[in-house]
Amino acid sequence: MKGLNLAIVGAGIGGLTAALALQRAGFKVTVYEQAPELGEVGAGLSLSPSAAHALRYLGLGPALDAASYLPEDQAVRHYQDGRALQWTNRGHALLEKYGERYYLIHRADLHDALAAAVRANDPEAIRLGQRCTGVTQTGDPVQISFEDGATADADTVIGADGSRSRVRCALFGDDGPKYTGYIAWRGIVPMERVPPRLLDPPSGIFVGPGHLVNRYPVRSGTLLNFVAFAERKEWEEEGWSIRSTVDELVKEFAGWHPEVLGFLAAVPPELLFKWGLFDREPLTSWCRGRVGLLGDAAHPILPFLGHGAVLAIEDAIVLGRAFAESASVAEALSRYEAARMARASFVVRESRKAVKIFHSHEPEKYAQKTGGKAADERLGLFDYNPTTVPV
Ligand SMILES: Cc1cc2nc3c(=O)[nH]c(=O)nc-3n(C[C@H](O)[C@H](O)[C@H](O)COP(=O)(O)OP(=O)(O)OC[C@H]3O[C@@H](n4cnc5c(N)ncnc54)[C@H](O)[C@@H]3O)c2cc1C
Repeated sequence: MKGLNLAIVGAGIGGLTAALALQRAGFKVTVYEQAPELGEVGAGLSLSPSAAHALRYLGLGPALDAASYLPEDQAVRHYQDGRALQWTNRGHALLEKYGERYYLIHRADLHDALAAAVRANDPEAIRLGQRCTGVTQTGDPVQISFEDGATADADTVIGADGSRSRVRCALFGDDGPKYTGYIAWRGIVPMERVPPRLLDPPSGIFVGPGHLVNRYPVRSGTLLNFVAFAERKEWEEEGWSIRSTVDELVKEFAGWHPEVLGFLAAVPPELLFKWGLFDREPLTSWCRGRVGLLGDAAHPILPFLGHGAVLAIEDAIVLGRAFAESASVAEALSRYEAARMARASFVVRESRKAVKIFHSHEPEKYAQKTGGKAADERLGLFDYNPTTVPV
């Protein structure tokens, strides 16, 4: 097995974590990324204890600690009067229970750390400007085709090419994305533009009818990241980086507490984007022959539990462990899928449901509906460690 030539399509957080996990297991890996340069969009990520276990296992603990903002508490507040509806500990209580805490990190900081670690193992591992158009496995090895007409051979291909995956399409077809009726804005506000009284505690959610705003610091507290969700009947374009205006955003949240409008209005227009949320029917299998899927390519997810990157990171660790412990590609892919399917499917389903509690017309009943617990903890999502689960 160790002599295999493994390929990953997509150098996002899932693809790079998988590359590192497979390198750690002693494999040679080539990652094919469509973008001409490596980079991540300007947005934050919340990482759960399970993702933190994973990153430490890969030797990225110091990078995680250095780049993250460590929230102690997270509040859920009423959209109009700002009263606290729920208060959850995201620091010491999690550490005591799960051996890890919650981390808030800029996507680019995590992505940079992953890419540097992959290249430190093999400077040639990441190939840029390679847009995959399909994979064929009529013979042995698998052939990857690229937009420029080039091809590459590999013993195994892992599709980590996101929610619009070409690899998934080649394996299972694509029944097309369905617009969910939700749109979102994301923005990054330099902390010096945010009045300090707006940040108690710095990590917080505001819930209201048909809307939700989640904000938290990243980059050691120097930037404030926010995502603001709203309901809208129609939306055409699938993509993360559609320009919006501060005026459009502030109008959408008219009547919300001045604390919310304070940081929404402070976002520099060039750091504000919007997009429509699309969903796909879940797959019942992620692997066929010598090709498998990982992260959003395998199980696209709505962002209401902040767990998409967490799942991709968990997938990557389990994939690496499955390859390390198996005698054949078929065995490795089947052990990977068997170990991950139930967990990922559960989180995908619960992420769909979570929006109903957040976008509530009765925000004052929030704690009653949640039993006073944050959704991820209530669902037991933190009680999972990809470095030790049976594979
Ligand atoms: C608003 C929002 C907030 C979120 N917040 C959180 C959060 O707090 N915590 C969390 O865990 N998750 C969060 N997520 C989810 C998370 O961002 C995704 O689930 C995660 O990025 C999936 O990683 P991935 O590597 O599978 O896919 P992606 O990040 O989409 O990466 C795919 C990579 O493949 C490349 N690619 C695509 N097509 C091709 C091709 N044909 N050929 C070659 N390369 C290709 C892309 O360029 C990209 O580099 C959020 C998502 C959204 C929308």
